Amino acid sequence: MPTFVNPNKCDGCQALDRPACMYICPNDLMTLDKGLGKAYNQEPDQCWECYACVKTCPQTAIEMRGYADVVPFGARLAPLRGTDSIIWTVKFRNNETKRFRFPIRTTPWGSIEPFQGLADAKVEDVKNPNLCGQEKFLGVDKLPVVAQ
Ligand code: SF4
Ligand code: SF4
Repeated sequence: MPTFVNPNKCDGCQALDRPACMYICPNDLMTLDKGLGKAYNQEPDQCWECYACVKTCPQTAIEMRGYADVVPFGARLAPLRGTDSIIWTVKFRNNETKRFRFPIRTTPWGSIEPFQGLADAKVEDVKNPNLCGQEKFLGVDKLPVVAQ
């Protein structure tokens, strides 16, 4: 379901020209009412429900409602990001609140080397239709080609 901004919590990213939610939305839906200093989702019908804006808002001002089969009784959800986990707060319509904490990583910060074990990239590779490391991750020496 689309996201919505809680105007009581939104501070307009302190009048930055491009607030965090506007910067992150892949569909350019979040916009700032400069007069009010509050952001809003200008076209909820077009929301991809990626929740990037929800997770990036520094004020935790953007919330979402889950589908009824996942979040019954019209509950609303808001995340609080930490360095090793994310805490989702669920507020039910009867004011009951539940919190769930999930780890967001299992390795220390900075310990991942994404290109480890892959050959150094060459400029000519830009013309190659194959993806980086495709043979390695498919476990083959050479990718098959379609006979012409
Ligand atoms: S990121 Fe959050 S605080 Fe900043 S403008 Fe958007 S909703 Fe408001
Ligand atoms: S959930 Fe995703 S698509 Fe929807 S407003 Fe937020 S960032 Fe944009």
